Amino acid sequence: MAEDCLFCRIAGGETNTEFLMETDKLVVFEDINPLAPVHLLLVPKQHIRSVNDLTEQDREILADLIFAARDMAPKMGVDSTGYRLFFNVEKGGGQEIFHLHMHMIGGWES
Ligand SMILES: [Zn+2]
Repeated sequence: MAEDCLFCRIAGGETNTEFLMETDKLVVFEDINPLAPVHLLLVPKQHIRSVNDLTEQDREILADLIFAARDMAPKMGVDSTGYRLFFNVEKGGGQEIFHLHMHMIGGWES
């Protein structure tokens, strides 16, 4: 855990952020600056700085993030209308919080 990391503090339950899903490995909550009607952040509890810092041991958590998104889709009503999953990597890629997280956006009128 990185002391000065916002997502470590959120994932550690140190803020009043409401989790839409929590497992022993990850949490899911709404982005405070949504880009779409549905905009979730899927965040590993383990501090990993960015995609560039992934190691072989992180394979499972990456799969867990995608399966969590699959499970959230029907709950958010976007499983049939569709959604996007993406990672912003480093400043030039739009990453603002340097703790790995996957975005899930959707819910547009189709
Ligand atoms: Zn962190």
